[in-house]
Amino acid sequence: MLPGKIVYSPHYLVRLENHVYQTEKYSLVKDRLIREGWAKEEDFIEPELPSEETLLLVHSREYLNDLKGLRFTQRTCRAELPLTRDLVDSALYSVSGTILALEEALKARIGIHLGGGHHHAFPDHAEGFCYLNDVAICARQAIAKGVAEKVAIVDCDLHQGNGTAFIFQNEPRVFTFSIHEEEIYPKKEKSSLDIGLNGGTGDIEYLRELERGLTEVLRFQPELIIYVGGVDPFRYDKLGSLKLTKEGLLKRDSMVLGECAQRRIPCVVTMAGGYAFKVEDTVDLHFQTVITAIRFMKILNG
Ligand SMILES: [Zn+2]
Repeated sequence: MLPGKIVYSPHYLVRLENHVYQTEKYSLVKDRLIREGWAKEEDFIEPELPSEETLLLVHSREYLNDLKGLRFTQRTCRAELPLTRDLVDSALYSVSGTILALEEALKARIGIHLGGGHHHAFPDHAEGFCYLNDVAICARQAIAKGVAEKVAIVDCDLHQGNGTAFIFQNEPRVFTFSIHEEEIYPKKEKSSLDIGLNGGTGDIEYLRELERGLTEVLRFQPELIIYVGGVDPFRYDKLGSLKLTKEGLLKRDSMVLGECAQRRIPCVVTMAGGYAFKVEDTVDLHFQTVITAIRFMKILNG
Protein backbone atom coordinates (compact mmCIF):
# COMPACT_ATOMS: atom_id res chain seq x y z
CA MET A 1 0.00 0.00 0.00
CA LEU A 2 1.19 3.53 -0.77
CA PRO A 3 2.05 5.93 2.09
CA GLY A 4 -0.61 8.36 0.81
CA LYS A 5 -3.83 7.99 -1.14
CA ILE A 6 -4.32 9.03 -4.76
CA VAL A 7 -7.43 11.14 -5.18
CA TYR A 8 -9.70 10.27 -8.09
CA SER A 9 -13.39 10.41 -8.91
CA PRO A 10 -15.33 8.48 -11.55
CA HIS A 11 -17.26 11.74 -12.04
CA TYR A 12 -14.27 13.10 -14.00
CA LEU A 13 -15.23 10.89 -16.91
CA VAL A 14 -17.83 12.88 -18.85
CA ARG A 15 -18.72 11.98 -22.41
CA LEU A 16 -17.95 14.90 -24.71
CA GLU A 17 -18.43 14.42 -28.43
CA ASN A 18 -15.45 15.57 -30.51
CA HIS A 19 -14.08 17.88 -27.83
CA VAL A 20 -10.36 18.60 -27.47
CA TYR A 21 -10.70 17.92 -23.72
CA GLN A 22 -10.39 14.14 -23.44
CA THR A 23 -11.91 13.42 -20.04
CA GLU A 24 -11.19 9.71 -20.33
CA LYS A 25 -7.50 10.50 -19.67
CA TYR A 26 -8.01 10.36 -15.89
CA SER A 27 -9.51 6.88 -15.77
CA LEU A 28 -6.95 5.65 -18.30
CA VAL A 29 -4.12 6.83 -16.03
CA LYS A 30 -5.78 5.17 -13.04
CA ASP A 31 -6.18 1.87 -14.92
CA ARG A 32 -2.56 1.96 -15.98
CA LEU A 33 -1.30 2.64 -12.45
CA ILE A 34 -3.10 -0.50 -11.32
CA ARG A 35 -2.15 -2.58 -14.35
CA GLU A 36 1.55 -1.76 -14.00
CA GLY A 37 1.57 -2.35 -10.25
CA TRP A 38 2.14 1.24 -9.11
CA ALA A 39 -1.04 1.31 -7.07
CA LYS A 40 -3.88 -0.92 -5.93
CA GLU A 41 -7.58 -0.13 -5.90
CA GLU A 42 -7.36 0.61 -2.15
CA ASP A 43 -4.73 3.28 -2.78
CA PHE A 44 -7.39 5.50 -4.36
CA ILE A 45 -9.75 7.73 -2.45
CA GLU A 46 -12.82 9.57 -3.78
CA PRO A 47 -13.77 13.13 -2.88
CA GLU A 48 -17.28 14.10 -1.77
CA LEU A 49 -19.14 17.19 -2.93
CA PRO A 50 -17.76 20.47 -1.50
CA SER A 51 -19.78 22.76 0.76
CA GLU A 52 -21.04 26.14 -0.44
CA GLU A 53 -18.74 27.72 2.14
CA THR A 54 -15.73 26.09 0.50
CA LEU A 55 -16.70 27.33 -2.97
CA LEU A 56 -17.30 30.83 -1.59
CA LEU A 57 -13.64 30.98 -0.55
CA VAL A 58 -13.03 32.02 -4.16
CA HIS A 59 -16.25 32.21 -6.18
CA SER A 60 -19.13 34.68 -6.08
CA ARG A 61 -22.58 33.56 -4.98
CA GLU A 62 -24.11 34.88 -8.24
CA TYR A 63 -21.78 32.78 -10.33
CA LEU A 64 -22.30 29.67 -8.19
CA ASN A 65 -26.08 30.08 -8.50
CA ASP A 66 -25.85 30.29 -12.30
CA LEU A 67 -23.54 27.31 -12.41
CA LYS A 68 -25.51 25.04 -10.12
CA GLY A 69 -28.75 26.09 -11.83
CA LEU A 70 -27.16 25.30 -15.22
CA ARG A 71 -28.06 28.80 -16.40
CA PHE A 72 -26.23 29.90 -19.54
CA THR A 73 -25.25 33.48 -18.66
CA GLN A 74 -22.32 35.87 -19.09
CA ARG A 75 -20.80 34.15 -16.07
CA THR A 76 -21.04 30.57 -17.29
CA CYS A 77 -20.84 30.92 -21.10
CA ARG A 78 -17.08 31.24 -21.52
CA ALA A 79 -16.06 27.73 -20.46
CA GLU A 80 -15.96 26.47 -24.07
CA LEU A 81 -17.71 23.40 -22.64
CA PRO A 82 -21.34 22.35 -22.59
CA LEU A 83 -23.16 23.42 -19.42
CA THR A 84 -24.40 20.05 -18.19
CA ARG A 85 -25.03 18.53 -14.77
CA ASP A 86 -22.28 15.97 -15.36
CA LEU A 87 -19.66 18.60 -16.14
CA VAL A 88 -20.67 20.81 -13.24
CA ASP A 89 -20.53 17.79 -10.92
CA SER A 90 -17.09 16.96 -12.31
CA ALA A 91 -15.94 20.51 -11.49
CA LEU A 92 -17.42 20.28 -7.99
CA TYR A 93 -15.73 16.97 -7.23
CA SER A 94 -12.46 18.38 -8.60
CA VAL A 95 -12.56 21.12 -5.97
CA SER A 96 -12.95 18.61 -3.13
CA GLY A 97 -10.40 16.40 -4.85
CA THR A 98 -7.64 18.99 -4.65
CA ILE A 99 -8.54 19.73 -1.02
CA LEU A 100 -8.44 16.02 -0.24
CA ALA A 101 -5.01 15.83 -1.89
CA LEU A 102 -3.95 18.65 0.43
CA GLU A 103 -4.93 16.49 3.42
CA GLU A 104 -2.88 13.64 1.97
CA ALA A 105 0.05 16.00 1.37
CA LEU A 106 0.01 16.98 5.03
CA LYS A 107 0.24 13.31 6.00
CA ALA A 108 2.54 11.92 3.30
CA ARG A 109 4.26 15.16 2.13
CA ILE A 110 2.93 14.62 -1.37
CA GLY A 111 -0.75 14.58 -2.24
CA ILE A 112 -1.71 13.38 -5.69
CA HIS A 113 -4.93 14.47 -7.37
CA LEU A 114 -5.61 12.54 -10.53
CA GLY A 115 -7.65 15.50 -11.73
CA GLY A 116 -7.95 19.22 -10.98
CA GLY A 117 -5.71 22.11 -12.00
CA HIS A 118 -8.58 24.21 -13.39
CA HIS A 119 -6.59 27.41 -13.31
CA HIS A 120 -8.59 29.49 -15.82
CA ALA A 121 -11.70 29.83 -13.65
CA PHE A 122 -12.25 33.33 -12.19
CA PRO A 123 -14.25 34.25 -9.06
CA ASP A 124 -17.26 35.30 -11.12
CA HIS A 125 -16.94 33.44 -14.40
CA ALA A 126 -15.85 30.27 -16.18
CA GLU A 127 -13.12 30.18 -18.82
CA GLY A 128 -11.01 27.79 -20.86
CA PHE A 129 -12.60 24.40 -19.88
CA CYS A 130 -12.60 25.50 -16.23
CA TYR A 131 -15.72 26.09 -14.16
CA LEU A 132 -14.26 26.14 -10.64
CA ASN A 133 -10.72 27.04 -9.61
CA ASP A 134 -9.78 24.10 -7.39
CA VAL A 135 -6.19 25.35 -7.15
CA ALA A 136 -7.14 28.74 -5.74
CA ILE A 137 -9.76 27.26 -3.41
CA CYS A 138 -7.18 24.82 -2.06
CA ALA A 139 -4.67 27.63 -1.43
CA ARG A 140 -7.31 29.72 0.36
CA GLN A 141 -8.42 26.73 2.41
CA ALA A 142 -4.84 25.95 3.46
CA ILE A 143 -4.41 29.50 4.74
CA ALA A 144 -7.87 29.64 6.34
CA LYS A 145 -7.26 26.37 8.21
CA GLY A 146 -3.81 27.53 9.31
CA VAL A 147 -1.94 24.64 7.70
CA ALA A 148 0.30 27.09 5.82
CA GLU A 149 1.00 30.77 6.26
CA LYS A 150 2.46 31.06 2.77
CA VAL A 151 1.48 29.05 -0.29
CA ALA A 152 3.15 28.93 -3.70
CA ILE A 153 1.44 27.81 -6.88
CA VAL A 154 3.82 26.39 -9.46
CA ASP A 155 1.87 26.38 -12.70
CA CYS A 156 3.65 24.58 -15.53
CA ASP A 157 0.63 24.16 -17.81
CA LEU A 158 1.13 25.40 -21.38
CA HIS A 159 -1.38 28.18 -20.68
CA GLN A 160 -0.97 30.97 -18.15
CA GLY A 161 -2.84 30.41 -14.88
CA ASN A 162 -4.81 33.59 -15.46
CA GLY A 163 -7.67 32.88 -13.07
CA THR A 164 -5.32 31.99 -10.23
CA ALA A 165 -3.11 35.03 -10.92
CA PHE A 166 -6.16 37.32 -10.85
CA ILE A 167 -7.53 35.81 -7.65
CA PHE A 168 -4.27 36.30 -5.73
CA GLN A 169 -3.06 39.55 -7.30
CA ASN A 170 -3.38 41.39 -3.95
CA GLU A 171 -2.67 38.42 -1.66
CA PRO A 172 0.86 38.58 -0.20
CA ARG A 173 0.52 35.10 1.34
CA VAL A 174 0.20 33.38 -2.04
CA PHE A 175 2.96 33.39 -4.64
CA THR A 176 1.74 32.57 -8.14
CA PHE A 177 4.32 31.37 -10.62
CA SER A 178 3.31 30.56 -14.18
CA ILE A 179 5.59 29.34 -16.95
CA HIS A 180 3.68 29.19 -20.22
CA GLU A 181 3.61 29.90 -23.93
CA GLU A 182 3.27 33.66 -24.33
CA GLU A 183 1.44 34.22 -27.61
CA ILE A 184 -1.60 32.01 -27.11
CA TYR A 185 -4.77 31.98 -24.95
CA PRO A 186 -5.39 33.43 -22.38
CA LYS A 187 -5.23 37.20 -22.16
CA LYS A 188 -2.55 37.48 -19.49
CA GLU A 189 -3.12 38.48 -15.90
CA LYS A 190 -0.22 39.37 -13.63
CA SER A 191 1.19 36.49 -11.60
CA SER A 192 3.80 37.04 -8.87
CA LEU A 193 6.19 35.66 -11.48
CA ASP A 194 5.40 35.04 -15.13
CA ILE A 195 7.77 33.38 -17.55
CA GLY A 196 6.27 33.63 -21.03
CA LEU A 197 8.03 31.43 -23.59
CA ASN A 198 8.16 31.73 -27.35
CA GLY A 199 6.60 29.08 -29.56
CA GLY A 200 9.18 26.44 -30.46
CA THR A 201 10.87 26.47 -27.05
CA GLY A 202 12.33 23.03 -26.31
CA ASP A 203 13.49 21.05 -23.29
CA ILE A 204 16.80 22.76 -22.58
CA GLU A 205 15.56 26.34 -22.54
CA TYR A 206 12.33 25.36 -20.76
CA LEU A 207 14.14 23.59 -17.94
CA ARG A 208 16.61 26.46 -17.56
CA GLU A 209 13.76 28.95 -17.23
CA LEU A 210 11.89 26.65 -14.85
CA GLU A 211 14.95 26.44 -12.63
CA ARG A 212 15.13 30.23 -12.55
CA GLY A 213 11.43 30.38 -11.64
CA LEU A 214 11.72 27.78 -8.92
CA THR A 215 14.61 29.68 -7.35
CA GLU A 216 12.28 32.68 -6.92
CA VAL A 217 9.46 30.51 -5.63
CA LEU A 218 11.75 29.04 -2.96
CA ARG A 219 12.98 32.49 -1.98
CA PHE A 220 9.35 33.18 -0.96
CA GLN A 221 9.72 30.30 1.55
CA PRO A 222 6.34 28.67 0.98
CA GLU A 223 5.02 26.15 3.49
CA LEU A 224 2.91 24.47 0.82
CA ILE A 225 3.29 24.15 -2.93
CA ILE A 226 0.47 23.39 -5.32
CA TYR A 227 1.80 22.01 -8.58
CA VAL A 228 -0.28 22.51 -11.72
CA GLY A 229 1.34 19.87 -13.89
CA GLY A 230 -0.38 20.39 -17.25
CA VAL A 231 1.24 18.29 -19.95
CA ASP A 232 0.24 20.50 -22.86
CA PRO A 233 3.78 21.93 -23.32
CA PHE A 234 4.30 18.59 -25.13
CA ARG A 235 5.59 18.92 -28.71
CA TYR A 236 2.59 17.07 -30.18
CA ASP A 237 -0.12 18.94 -28.32
CA LYS A 238 -3.03 20.38 -30.32
CA LEU A 239 -3.22 23.65 -28.43
CA GLY A 240 0.32 24.98 -28.39
CA SER A 241 3.69 25.10 -30.05
CA LEU A 242 6.14 24.47 -27.25
CA LYS A 243 8.39 21.56 -28.18
CA LEU A 244 8.95 19.60 -25.01
CA THR A 245 9.62 15.88 -25.28
CA LYS A 246 8.33 13.23 -22.89
CA GLU A 247 11.81 13.11 -21.33
CA GLY A 248 11.78 16.89 -20.92
CA LEU A 249 8.40 16.79 -19.18
CA LEU A 250 9.60 14.00 -16.91
CA LYS A 251 12.60 16.14 -15.94
CA ARG A 252 10.23 19.03 -15.30
CA ASP A 253 8.10 16.95 -12.92
CA SER A 254 11.22 15.63 -11.18
CA MET A 255 12.62 19.13 -10.81
CA VAL A 256 9.49 20.57 -9.20
CA LEU A 257 8.80 17.58 -6.95
CA GLY A 258 12.49 17.15 -6.14
CA GLU A 259 12.76 20.74 -4.87
CA CYS A 260 9.70 20.19 -2.67
CA ALA A 261 11.02 16.87 -1.37
CA GLN A 262 14.49 18.20 -0.66
CA ARG A 263 13.09 21.07 1.41
CA ARG A 264 10.31 18.99 3.00
CA ILE A 265 7.65 21.32 1.60
CA PRO A 266 4.31 19.50 1.27
CA CYS A 267 3.19 19.43 -2.34
CA VAL A 268 -0.25 18.97 -3.88
CA VAL A 269 -0.03 17.65 -7.44
CA THR A 270 -2.82 18.40 -9.93
CA MET A 271 -3.06 17.27 -13.54
CA ALA A 272 -4.48 20.27 -15.53
CA GLY A 273 -4.21 20.39 -19.35
CA GLY A 274 -3.05 17.85 -21.89
CA TYR A 275 -4.44 17.68 -25.43
CA ALA A 276 -2.03 15.59 -27.45
CA PHE A 277 -3.05 14.47 -30.94
CA LYS A 278 -3.01 10.92 -29.55
CA VAL A 279 -4.77 10.42 -26.23
CA GLU A 280 -2.21 7.69 -25.41
CA ASP A 281 0.46 10.40 -25.31
CA THR A 282 -1.58 12.52 -22.90
CA VAL A 283 -2.05 9.44 -20.72
CA ASP A 284 1.68 8.63 -20.86
CA LEU A 285 2.52 12.15 -19.75
CA HIS A 286 0.08 12.37 -16.83
CA PHE A 287 1.13 8.85 -15.85
CA GLN A 288 4.75 10.05 -15.75
CA THR A 289 3.76 12.89 -13.42
CA VAL A 290 1.89 10.55 -11.08
CA ILE A 291 4.62 7.91 -10.88
CA THR A 292 7.23 10.61 -10.29
CA ALA A 293 5.09 11.82 -7.39
CA ILE A 294 4.71 8.23 -6.12
CA ARG A 295 8.50 7.73 -6.26
CA PHE A 296 9.12 10.85 -4.17
CA MET A 297 6.30 9.91 -1.79
CA LYS A 298 7.95 6.55 -1.17
CA ILE A 299 11.39 8.13 -0.62
CA LEU A 300 9.96 10.69 1.80
CA ASN A 301 8.07 8.06 3.77
CA GLY A 302 10.59 5.25 3.40
ZN1 LIG B 1 -3.42 24.26 -20.66
